Amino acid sequence: MARLVMKFGGTSVANIERIRNVARHVKREIEAGHEVAVVVSAMSGKTNELVAWCRETAVLHDAREYDAIVASGEQVTSGLLAIALQDMGIPARSWQGWQLPISTDDAHGAARILSVNGDEIVKRFAEGEVAVIAGFQGMHVPTGRITTLGRGGSDTSAVAVAAGIKADRCDIYTDVDGVYTTDPRIVPKARRLEKIAFEEMLEMASLGAKVLQVRSVELAMVHNVRTFVRSSFTDPDAPELKTAGDPPGTLICDEEEIVESEVVTGIAFARDEAQISIRHVPDKPGIAAGVFVPLADAHINVDMIVQNISAEGFTDITFTVPTADFERAKAALAGAREEIGFQAVEGATDVVKISIIGIGMRSHAGVAARAFKALSERGINIRAISTSEIKISVLIDAAYTELAVRTLHSVYGLDA
Ligand code: ADP
Ligand code: ASP
Ligand code: MG
Repeated sequence: MARLVMKFGGTSVANIERIRNVARHVKREIEAGHEVAVVVSAMSGKTNELVAWCRETAVLHDAREYDAIVASGEQVTSGLLAIALQDMGIPARSWQGWQLPISTDDAHGAARILSVNGDEIVKRFAEGEVAVIAGFQGMHVPTGRITTLGRGGSDTSAVAVAAGIKADRCDIYTDVDGVYTTDPRIVPKARRLEKIAFEEMLEMASLGAKVLQVRSVELAMVHNVRTFVRSSFTDPDAPELKTAGDPPGTLICDEEEIVESEVVTGIAFARDEAQISIRHVPDKPGIAAGVFVPLADAHINVDMIVQNISAEGFTDITFTVPTADFERAKAALAGAREEIGFQAVEGATDVVKISIIGIGMRSHAGVAARAFKALSERGINIRAISTSEIKISVLIDAAYTELAVRTLHSVYGLDA
């Protein structure tokens, strides 16, 4: 007997038929003798619809009410799955974040989980009851208000519940059968990874691969939760799913567990960054502070930064900000123009950041050079570059996204 958390994403619970299919996956694990807590997302598209309703009502709206509204999608699916399970003869009960509670801070819209109280659901495991927990939501206990964890947050709910109830495994069921070398929707030759190291998965997720929310990977790493990404679209009664041992899918694990590591593990891309270039800035001490302090004051995150060597005492500075903050960033710079003394601010939102990720880079030279050469051979211009120990990111025109991802995927030998 093992204790499992099974998480099902939006496409896996998109309609009643799929919810019944999910119930069959749960039934299989119950029949194998396991204790099961399920975490569900809202039906796919639901959260987008709820977010749009908030914006339509008032562009600037109260974040506490936003949370009250957008958390409702998961309330529906948790209740529906509990009914579907009961209908199959399996005792089940739904739980909202506030009922356990899943306690969070008060950063409404992007709250962080502080703790999960799993006492009641663990107690009921003894009676054979399945807990069906609404993902994405929690409660700020001091105020008693509902909070949400940021988009894609049900992954984080699942890992936090797994840590909270000391589960043996957290299975993230989704519409792909694992973590791939890159988004399989963009590159048909993408390969499924048997295992991926926490550090690499963290980079993949934060650099655009939305298969797992970044925070869920952090929690899995910190609490050492054995986390698999696997498909909900397989036949729940397939004989190969009934065998003991590791499930089919991708295990997120310590790098020591990975025997043969490639230099590059995966390619990620993110379309939600915009480029800003400041032209003809006087090159003197304090100028970077002059540019970036107003942005920090406006709570705008700056990612890639490029500064040219100056010519005749002037330089250009290029950097990226989240696309959602693009206009605010330009406004903040315009406000500081006199002080900084630049000539012009230029910007582009039709850009994409492509990243090459792999822990093998720590010990291999020439990884970046190969990327730059391959992109130049395709006539793709690089606007900005940033690197860290295990990743290289380049900013290019969005029109070349697919070509660049496919090119890099094959250059590093990742094609299936
Ligand atoms: P869910 O609703 O189940 O949470 P998501 O849509 O959030 O599912 O995440 C799954 C999607 O992530 C896949 O359909 C796939 O297109 C995308 N994806 C992006 N990068 C990767 C990758 N490297 N491996 C697998 N899937 C990826
Ligand atoms: N329903 C939420 C979202 O769409 C949470 C999730 O799916 O993980 O962001
Ligand atoms: Mg998701």
